[in-house]
Amino acid sequence: MYIYERQLSGSQDQLRNRRAPLWLAGRRYYLSPPVVSRFLRKKSGDAAVVIDVDRAVSLNRRYARSLGWQTHFDRIVRLLGFTTFTPNERIFAEAVARWQRRQGLSADGILGSKAWSRMRTALGIARPSAASEVNTLLPAAGPGYYTYSPPAERFGLPETIRAVQAIAAAWYQRHPEGPRLGIGDISVRSGGPISGHEAHRLGREVDIRPVRIRGMEGPENYLSPTYSQALTQELVNLIGANGVLRVRTILFNDPNIRGVSWYKGHNNHLHVGFHPSARRTQRV
Ligand SMILES: [Zn+2]
Repeated sequence: MYIYERQLSGSQDQLRNRRAPLWLAGRRYYLSPPVVSRFLRKKSGDAAVVIDVDRAVSLNRRYARSLGWQTHFDRIVRLLGFTTFTPNERIFAEAVARWQRRQGLSADGILGSKAWSRMRTALGIARPSAASEVNTLLPAAGPGYYTYSPPAERFGLPETIRAVQAIAAAWYQRHPEGPRLGIGDISVRSGGPISGHEAHRLGREVDIRPVRIRGMEGPENYLSPTYSQALTQELVNLIGANGVLRVRTILFNDPNIRGVSWYKGHNNHLHVGFHPSARRTQRV
């Protein structure tokens, strides 16, 4: 019998182990490994997270009411990546766990108060009065950089702003004559949706222009004759070496630059995403 992938449910362990049956509408099914692995890949988009699904499901029922996130359920599942169907409670818990891991939270699949507060910010439904950590403005210019976004879109977590300034300062040391780095959008104050972006919601992502030749500043893309691959590679290396935050991802489309990933719309800027937690202080 053919089973539609969207009908599958079960814990990661069940899905991974083809001997463990899946129950669908009271009937038992065994799946071939290719079907299972294709489904797991599709569901997660990255490595699987192992959680106690039963516990997560039961606590999520409770938190949905006590924290009040049940009223935002549709938006939550969309944020978790479900666009064509509504996940059941088990698949929901696993998706929460993967989201938590990407956020640097402990990945238990439980949308409790800490996870919910972070998610509420991401959805732009934080209470306006609530103190948000996305409250530090990157000044219009400083050592090694200029900005090309309005102030309203240059807010970040304090450590994100420090990391950007550290990258620019390191750049300035190597290139005191310029060009300076062009810094674009970060986030709006207090986080939440920002026009023109899917991301940039939590003050942890920043756009930076590719570096140009002959000390020129301004817009640039990697297919232009005034683009400097060598200087842009140097920038990518400096971003990774900043002493403030670990780098989660750099999206940029020049296939000859090491340490970046292709993503649509990224010919003309590097999208830098930082990990939430600070680097550990090094022992001296
Ligand atoms: Zn970006």
